[in-house]
Amino acid sequence: MTLNPAPNSFRTGPDERGRFGIFGGRFVAETLMPLILDLEKAYADAKADPSFKADMESYGTHYIGRPSPLYYAERLTEHLRAKAPAGQGAKIFFKREELNHTGSHKVNNVLGQILLARRMGKPRIIAETGAGQHGVATATLCARFGLKCVVYMGAVDVERQAPNVFRMKMLGAEVIPVQSGTRTLKDAMNEALRDWVTNVSDTFYCIGTVAGPHPYPAMVRDFQSVIGIETKQQMLEMEGRLPDSLIACIGGGSNAMGLFHPFLDDRDVEIYGVEAAGHGVQSGLHAASLTGGRPGVLHGNRTYLLMNEDGQIADAHSISAGLDYPGIGPEHAWLHEMGRVTYLSATDAETLEAFKLCSMLEGIIPALEPAHALSKVMELAPTKPAEHLMVLNLSGRGDKDIPQVAQIFGQTL
Ligand SMILES: *Cc1c(COP(=O)(O)O)cnc(C)c1O
Repeated sequence: MTLNPAPNSFRTGPDERGRFGIFGGRFVAETLMPLILDLEKAYADAKADPSFKADMESYGTHYIGRPSPLYYAERLTEHLRAKAPAGQGAKIFFKREELNHTGSHKVNNVLGQILLARRMGKPRIIAETGAGQHGVATATLCARFGLKCVVYMGAVDVERQAPNVFRMKMLGAEVIPVQSGTRTLKDAMNEALRDWVTNVSDTFYCIGTVAGPHPYPAMVRDFQSVIGIETKQQMLEMEGRLPDSLIACIGGGSNAMGLFHPFLDDRDVEIYGVEAAGHGVQSGLHAASLTGGRPGVLHGNRTYLLMNEDGQIADAHSISAGLDYPGIGPEHAWLHEMGRVTYLSATDAETLEAFKLCSMLEGIIPALEPAHALSKVMELAPTKPAEHLMVLNLSGRGDKDIPQVAQIFGQTL
């Protein structure tokens, strides 16, 4: 069902109330409203200030290590061509966000929000985290700028992700285990929102993905768009034209929005988002909000969610803690309904195959999150002509996943 007429541009959203069609918005307690309006104004001012842009670029270059390379994955390309009919098999490129400081794309967004917090004079930063990648990126930037950092993390995730908990503490952050609900990411986000309303004067809430109330989904997207802007320029330099397709994994959807957004109005570019299908969407044990969920309200915005029959938020399941979120950014929900982006899903088993293949063929151990998208590259690439240029967003490196994968393969470390 399409609720809006096709727009002239897919890049104009959100509207002044933070809506992408019927999605997004700001469904928050009255007490939070002044904070959100403050943030919206501060972000608008920063966007118009050349010195903010200059700071983003300077720290982006010297601290994060941007631009990240666009890399031709030659052996993977050849491997998949060998399985394709003659003349077929796309040329595959990796956008290498795993080479960023702290090992994933998360830091692009955190840098933007921390520079904004400094402009606003907020000395205390709070964040939610699931697998711990956003928590580590936030703790890192807080250490760099001498800000107090408090990270909310579900108690279950604290257990599962011990190395990242230690990392955050090394960086000087306080990690608070959250005991409510399922004691995972959604509960950590609830707790962080509660903290924010009680500490209005000195606290900045640094959200880790394109979710939450307006202006977060648009702001986080803007900070991550450096991925797509660089990709466009790099592909023009390497191949003299735009890519034919883009593909990225989706937890909340920030690495995907960052790659996709600059290309949304290039209508010839096919765009694919890949959700986590866990044990399979039919099994009920998955994190595929678009494929297996329906619209509702969570964490201040309307979007597709995993819910039970009573409308209670259901548990998400994925092999990858970073995709284990029962919702999806509202702009993705809108792009799904507009038909501009095609959303697929990958199971745990398909993901592990892709994880192995990438390691063996390219000498790159990917995080389990982008391995979901890679498994769909393995399906799609052989169906495309040989001149088709396909870009995978390699959102993070696999070091954090080594203990878990070793256990699955029955190895002890
Ligand atoms: C957190 C994370 C994701 C999922 O988050 P998005 O907001 O959907 O990008 C994907 N990949 C990696 C490496 C992550 O750390």
